[in-house]
Order: sequence, then C-alpha cells, then structure tokens
Amino acid sequence: MTETLAGSTLQGTPVVGGLAYGPAIWPGERPSHDPETLGVGTEVAEADRESEIGRFTDAAGVVAGRLRDRASHSSGAAAEVLAATAGLAEDRGWIGAASGLIRKGATAPAAAAAATEQFATMFTKLGGLMAERVTDLNDVRDRVLAELLGLPEPGVPEPTEPSVLLADDLAPADTAGLDPSTTVALVTRFGGPTSHTAIIARQLGIPCVVAVSGLSEVQAGTPVLVDGNRGTLAIEPDEASARAQVEASRRHAQAVSGWQGPGRTADGHEVSVLANVADGASARTATKYPVEGIGLFRTELAFLDRADEPSVDEQARIYGEVLEAFAGKKVVVRSLDAGSDKPLKFVNHKDEANPALGVRGDRIAIENPDIRAHQLDAIAQAAAALNTTPWVMAPMIASPREAAAFAAEVRGRGMVPGVMVEIPAAAILAHAILAEVDFVSIGTNDLTQYTMAADRMSADLAALTDPWQPAVLKLIESVATAGQELGKSVGVCGEAAADPNLACVLTGLGVTSLSSAPVAAAGVGARLAEVTLDDCRAAAAAALATADPGDARAAAAEVLDAAATRHATAV
Ligand code: PEP
Ligand code: MG
Repeated sequence: MTETLAGSTLQGTPVVGGLAYGPAIWPGERPSHDPETLGVGTEVAEADRESEIGRFTDAAGVVAGRLRDRASHSSGAAAEVLAATAGLAEDRGWIGAASGLIRKGATAPAAAAAATEQFATMFTKLGGLMAERVTDLNDVRDRVLAELLGLPEPGVPEPTEPSVLLADDLAPADTAGLDPSTTVALVTRFGGPTSHTAIIARQLGIPCVVAVSGLSEVQAGTPVLVDGNRGTLAIEPDEASARAQVEASRRHAQAVSGWQGPGRTADGHEVSVLANVADGASARTATKYPVEGIGLFRTELAFLDRADEPSVDEQARIYGEVLEAFAGKKVVVRSLDAGSDKPLKFVNHKDEANPALGVRGDRIAIENPDIRAHQLDAIAQAAAALNTTPWVMAPMIASPREAAAFAAEVRGRGMVPGVMVEIPAAAILAHAILAEVDFVSIGTNDLTQYTMAADRMSADLAALTDPWQPAVLKLIESVATAGQELGKSVGVCGEAAADPNLACVLTGLGVTSLSSAPVAAAGVGARLAEVTLDDCRAAAAAALATADPGDARAAAAEVLDAAATRHATAV
C-alpha cells in the first residue's frame, strides 16, 4: 500500500541519470490468460468458425492499425519498433496458425494464445534476435486478446500531465511511442542496465531506474521523485523540495552540456581541468573535450605488451604524439609506473609476495637506472623536437630523498620535475617533498589503497577504497596546504578528480588542478562553476568533520547543492 510507503525511498539500479517528479502511472493491465477467460476447452460450433476467424483477423487488424498509426506519429528508432510490432500483428504465419486452430473449434482468444505459444517456443529455440522478439509477440497477443475480450488496450496510458511510468518491464511497443514531455521517467521492477527499457530511456533522455524491489506496492497517482543518478524512487516526498531538486538537476544538466572551460569557480578561482591519457590516440580524443591540458600521461600503458625495452627514438615518437596533441598546453608525463597491477616484461620484475608494496613505479630505477634514464632522454628528445617543456613526474615516491634524486634527473634534461603523492609517507612529508620538486600530483587511487590498507582491486573492500574516506581527505588537505605555503601546484589525478562534488571539496582543500578521464571534465567544470571558492571550502570542512565516507559525501552534497541553488536563484 502506498500510504505505508509515504516518505520512504525504494532502491534500484540507476540506468539513466537525472531527476524527475510526478504522479506514478502504470501500464494498462494485461488481459488474464486463464483458460476460462480465453474459452479454452469451449468448442465453437462448426457453422460459427468462419465468423470466429473473421473476429480474430479483425482484432489483429485493429491492433496492427493502431500500432501503425503510432508509428506514423513517431520517428527514428521508435517508429521502427512500432512498425515492426505492427508487422507481427499482421504476420501471415501467426494468423494462419491461429485461424487453423479456430477452424478445428478453438475460440479466437484461445487460438491467439496457443498460436503465440507455438511461435514463442520456436523463436526461443532459434535464440539471438529472434528470441528477443518473444516480448514483442506476447505484447501483440495481449493487445489482440484485449480487443477480442472487449477490454481497454493494454500498455502505457497517455498521461495528461508529466508523469513517472512504473512497470514490471516495458514492451518495446510501449516504450517506443513515449513522449518525454509527459512521460518524464521510467522505473521498472525487472530489467537490467542494458534492457530495452534502458535503451529507450537513454534515447528519450529521461531518467531511468530498473530492478526496484517493492515497486509493485506503489499505486498509480502516488507522487514520486526519481533519481536516476542514485537509482532511487522517493515515495510522496515533500513536493516543494522535490520540484526544487528537479529544477536544480535540470539546470545542472544544461550547464554540463554547455560547459566549455576553462575550470574556475563561480567567483573566478581558477582550477585547471585536465585529462588522463594513455597514448597518442587517447590524447587526440581528449582534445575533443573541454580540457586545458594533460594532467597524467600513464606512459607504462603504451608498453604493456612489449617484451623488450623500446628504443629511445621509438619512445620519443610515442611521447611526441601526446605532446603534439596538446601543443602549447600543459602536459604532465609520468615516468613508467611498472609493477603490481601493471607489470612490464622488459623490467624483469622479480616474484614478490606483495607486488603492490614491492618494486613498482620509480623504485624500478633501483636495479634498472637505465630504463628511467632512457625514458627521460626520450621525453626530452620529443620535447626538444616540439620546442615544448613538459612537466615530468615520478610515481610511487615515498621520501624526499627519492623526490630529490628524480628531480635532479628531470632538471638535468631541462624539464619541470614533480612527483606523485600516492603513499601516505609522501603526504605526511609533503612539505619536504615539495621543497625538492616544482609540483606534486596526488594519485588518490593508490593513496586511498595505501592509507586504508585495502587493495584497490578488491570488490569486497570497495567501501574502504572510497576516495571520500575522511582519512584520505585529511592527507590531501595537508599536501595542499604545503603546496600553498610553498606556492607550488598540487594536482589530483586519481579517479577522485572525476567526481564533481569531490572535485569541489578538493578545490576547497587547496588543490590547484584536477585530471581524470576526459569524459568527466564537463561534469566537474560545470559543478565548479556553480559554486564559489568559499562554498568549496565549506564543503571541504563539512566533509572533513565526518568520520565516514558516506557521511562526507552527504555533508559536502548538502553544502554544494544549497550553494548552487542559492547562486542560481540570486542571478
Ligand atoms: C593513482 O594512483 O591515483 C593514479 C593516478 O595512478 P594509477 O591509477 O595509474 O596507479
Ligand atoms: Mg597510482
């Protein structure tokens, strides 16, 4: 019962992001298939059989006509789906099979159900695309049965106000005709992220949540708030707050799609929004996104399949492609982060009990100083050829001494030296490390792994390897503070930089650049543009005041959502 659900929130799987609010609607009931309703066992008198066949073909014709009519009012994929379903209602084989059964005495509804069963079994056996048509076929059967039984057409009602469509699952013909101005979200009990419902929701650009348990308890007419980002359905939420949330999300989506950079807060505090890349191809792709440069070039990814160390010339060519893609812009090249989850054959890693704590990253230079020297030569060669000065940083630095040694190598080749802060020791001694180099970049993936002593690859420990862990945020704060004291850049290039709210928190902590997969850039940039530096600082303080990543996330979201709404309505 909906009353007992009022104020509660159901959880499902998020499929298409965005928020929507409106009364729930359910598709019209499917006709009952019980033998009595269908007239199974009732024999139609021989004299009436031809007219019973006529009744069946008329019903199929009416259903096909309605679907064709809807197809003619739709376009693209929707029109194709509707026309294909109409084709099934007119399928000669199916109509012939049902007519044959009626000729033997079956009622039209019983014959329609039995003929569908035959075809469904055959389609299922054929598998693949044919098997997927079973849902369409059953949909046609139900529409024809409703017509024969004098019931309202099953399927989606056409709402007169913006409504949220709830369903067990949706047949292609139902979803194909949907109008996104009146059906503002889809929520289903079944289905997965790749189900037909999900595909149509994505095409229509409306929020979608699937696999929601308890959904059948929600009655038609109940006001609901769908959150396609979190995968939730709030039942009878406070109307004013729900509408404000929907409006904020709409405004934000518009801002994301229109965001062109550069990265800065609403009050003009600059934060570079950069891309993580793996090679020339990904760097060229990154130029299509609103990023200001490259914050992390993971060079080891270009050599994962190489048995022998590539020559300096070959390496220079590969690095040159990346430098060229972002000519005139900031490019941070990371020296080989070989080992642990990214072993390189030519490094000849020894067997180690704990490779994540072993000879990885810059540590490979202990036994293989030439590999590091060759790589730095190659980066310098590529830079000289393009007349540019890249920033070059080392991964897995634990001490100021290691930072100083690396910096000397990089400076000696005329480039800008930096190191990654991925090990808690480096964060704790950030001041001393920053004294040796020109910049640092915080790798939150590894910093979280080592701070929480939780393998970043472990699904069981995902709650621990959450970058919102307040312990990790505290370490980032101390690194950023050291950077501010010394006037040096402190970037973040782990996945944390892809989370818009966390990006604001990092900015509030004093981080100066954010680098992640380029697809995340617009979301991050648009969020930063909605809030001021003070808002970011307040969000950071709120997150730091918690002791749990979930609480940190919620606390920061509350501050940032309120600030974004305040600034938007003040304009
Ligand atoms: C990190 O650890 O956050 C990082 C950016 O490096 P990688 O993910 O390549 O280990
Ligand atoms: Mg790392």
